[in-house]
Amino acid sequence: MKEVLLLKCGEIVLKGLNRKTFEDRLLGNLKRRMKHVADCNISMRQSVIYVEVPEEADKEAVMDCARHVFGIATISRAAVCEKTLESIIDTAAAYLGNRFAAARSFKVESKRGDKKFPMTSTEISQHVGGELADRFPNVRPDMHTPDLIVHVEVRETYAFVHPGPEAGAGGMPIGSNGRAGLLLSGGIDSPVAGWMMAKRGLELVGIHFFSYPYTSERAKEKVFELARKLTAWCGRMSVMVVPFTQIQEAIRDNCHEELFTLVMRRFMMRIAERVAADYGCGGLITGESLGQVASQTMPAMAVTGAVCELPVFRPCIGMDKEEIVTIARKIDTFETSILPYEDCCTVFTPKHPNTKPKMPKILEAESHLDVDALVEQAVAGVEIVHLP
Ligand code: ATP
Ligand code: MG
Repeated sequence: MKEVLLLKCGEIVLKGLNRKTFEDRLLGNLKRRMKHVADCNISMRQSVIYVEVPEEADKEAVMDCARHVFGIATISRAAVCEKTLESIIDTAAAYLGNRFAAARSFKVESKRGDKKFPMTSTEISQHVGGELADRFPNVRPDMHTPDLIVHVEVRETYAFVHPGPEAGAGGMPIGSNGRAGLLLSGGIDSPVAGWMMAKRGLELVGIHFFSYPYTSERAKEKVFELARKLTAWCGRMSVMVVPFTQIQEAIRDNCHEELFTLVMRRFMMRIAERVAADYGCGGLITGESLGQVASQTMPAMAVTGAVCELPVFRPCIGMDKEEIVTIARKIDTFETSILPYEDCCTVFTPKHPNTKPKMPKILEAESHLDVDALVEQAVAGVEIVHLP
């Protein structure tokens, strides 16, 4: 039986004049991603995307690919049939036979996209429902709480039958809101933060600070693995690895211990801004959550954010760890994140970090360092890896 995925666009439907640009981007993203899965014919009419799935394709893989594309609100896997009542009824009986076998009650819901079709949607539902009730006498019609809803959509060229839509990834098409640099550590929070902003239409460029030999090659591999997991949602991603050892050593040798982390984080933000701008990024993303650690108090974030002109997005800011973990599991980064490799933040951690830093003290601490030269040196040593 010929099958097709009907994909309904989410918020982009609301976008007035920009709608065409958004739809084109979504269509482009979907085609690029599907190319690796199956040779589907993909087109869009009246804000519905049709993915024609070839007979020999791995249909679950096609579904799974569609589930990971931002900008799609719902996905219906449907059988295609002629626009006649007989064809609709025969197709529904054959395509949904298993579901009828498992259900005790059903109803039909119809949509008529083609207003020239000679019956109203209510008439279609009544007629198809009556015939199906005859064919499946053990399944009674129930208009209120049916086990099974048979969806019939009569559109321009064909009619479609399916058991109802499932939720898509939601959000906006990747790239529709520009590009941002994601400060990606090996932890739980930053991949979640990246995913949340990618969902809002940002293309991600990973930025990772690497302090060899204090942090190992395996810790770096772990970060690439996290980025790879994100590409299931983003399609592709570049990660910039910034050499950070010299900066950390300079801080250790020249600054008061209680300020180590904050001075270090200010370096991260400065460098991230520099390399992100080179890559056409309009913002930065971190996995910070208010009060989670000493460097994530409000005064600490004021001090670290102060070195940046680009907007810094912290989508986890108001979330509890449990809520972040729930998303990490859903997007399949959690198991990788909890692998026990050290991060550069855990090297030279002060015993008593300052949680209420004052800017003059920070500036005084930094006056013992050649900030510009250290930044330049780190930027010059950046290594870029393209994933997958
Ligand atoms: P995460 O789970 O993301 O590691 P965390 O609770 O461990 O978060 P911190 O280590 O304080 O928090 O880091 C806060 C944020 O700073 C991270 O979410 C990430 O965006 C960024 N960050 C920390 N370490 C690195 C690193 N080595 N490379 C890139 N970004 C980093
Ligand atoms: Mg971390």
